[in-house]
Amino acid sequence: MNTVTEKFLKYVKYYTESDTETGLTPSTPGQMILAEELKKELEEIGLEQVSLDENGYVMGVLPSNLDVEVPKVGFVAHMDTSPDFTGKNVNPQFVENYDGNDIVLNSDENIVMKVSDFPELKKYVGQTLITTDGTTLLGADDKAGIAEIMTAVEYLVQHPEIKHGAVHICFTPDEEIGRGADYFNVEKFGADFAYTLDGGEIGELQYENFNAAFAKITFKGRNVHPGMAKNKMINSMLIATEFISRLPVDDMPEKTEGYEGFYHLLSIQGGVEKTTLQYIIRDFDKEKYEERKQLITDLCNKSNEDYGEGTAKLELVDQYFNMREKIEPVKHIVDIANEAMLQVGVTPNVVPVRGGTDGSRLSFMGLPCPNIFAGGHNFHGRFEYVPVKSMQKAVDVILKIVELLAKVEK
Ligand SMILES: [Zn+2]
Repeated sequence: MNTVTEKFLKYVKYYTESDTETGLTPSTPGQMILAEELKKELEEIGLEQVSLDENGYVMGVLPSNLDVEVPKVGFVAHMDTSPDFTGKNVNPQFVENYDGNDIVLNSDENIVMKVSDFPELKKYVGQTLITTDGTTLLGADDKAGIAEIMTAVEYLVQHPEIKHGAVHICFTPDEEIGRGADYFNVEKFGADFAYTLDGGEIGELQYENFNAAFAKITFKGRNVHPGMAKNKMINSMLIATEFISRLPVDDMPEKTEGYEGFYHLLSIQGGVEKTTLQYIIRDFDKEKYEERKQLITDLCNKSNEDYGEGTAKLELVDQYFNMREKIEPVKHIVDIANEAMLQVGVTPNVVPVRGGTDGSRLSFMGLPCPNIFAGGHNFHGRFEYVPVKSMQKAVDVILKIVELLAKVEK
């Protein structure tokens, strides 16, 4: 078995599901147990400045073996798995020389991964796939990324004839609950820029993501006995539905794709007296994003004009921003990743992320950080799988990036 697969199989056995409710960092103790193991491995491989802090961030540096100064590159992956589906007792299954047919994940429970549901399976005919047993997620998101980075630095240590600048490694907690960058010490990390190995299928290269805001709108009504309500009752649920109906009907997740933005109504909780709406607002374009927030504000004002001041109360917060604005000035770091992929026979697929990544927040914290494929598919569920070859190619891409950067004198 090759090294990256071996490491991957080891890491998926750790139960590292994150949890939005604990308020701790890392949010769950299993992540710290994996962090300790990763720290030990980095030390055994022979990296320097290996550390694990109280928040679960594992860091290490492979020093430069060059006489000239070249950029210090970082590689980042996250240790937690999504709370959307259980990651306990992951039991990976191998599908060797995949024949292109439906894959039975679990015959007892009749769980089948159908090609009709996941047609991209056809791309991997003849390859080895690692799947779940149908009862858990796999955790290729993002333990494939960890295994790839670990394999690449180990290879560099074993092959000192490969010339490279300093390579900085960080494994982070709690990405899946949006907190992976919270306690990331960019200064201590020390890289000039980095790549997260946290994308999906082979070839993915991402440096654009949504601008993102969260809005909570509380509508106040007035409850009166319905028999005596004429000209007295104000039904907050009806004011809220009026508000909803004023938003553009096509700007919702189920009707948008590519670079299109949206308003997404997350929840409604209501009664006559009080109704609360929660929205997330998303757009790639900063100007359109501001317009969307303005429309929400204007519509709240409209409710206040129609039903009296204090009827609608708006809480609006920015969550994260499109990293493009931070990557564009250092666009060569995307070009290098692109070139690295081409040189190892991977066709780059530059796509916008319809969400956020840790990299987007890191980019705004002073560490420009595009995202590279880790190789998996169908994240956060029982149909998650990863082709072994995609993981090996990700290792090749890391090594090639390091090799290309060794020729970039500062
Ligand atoms: Zn991920």
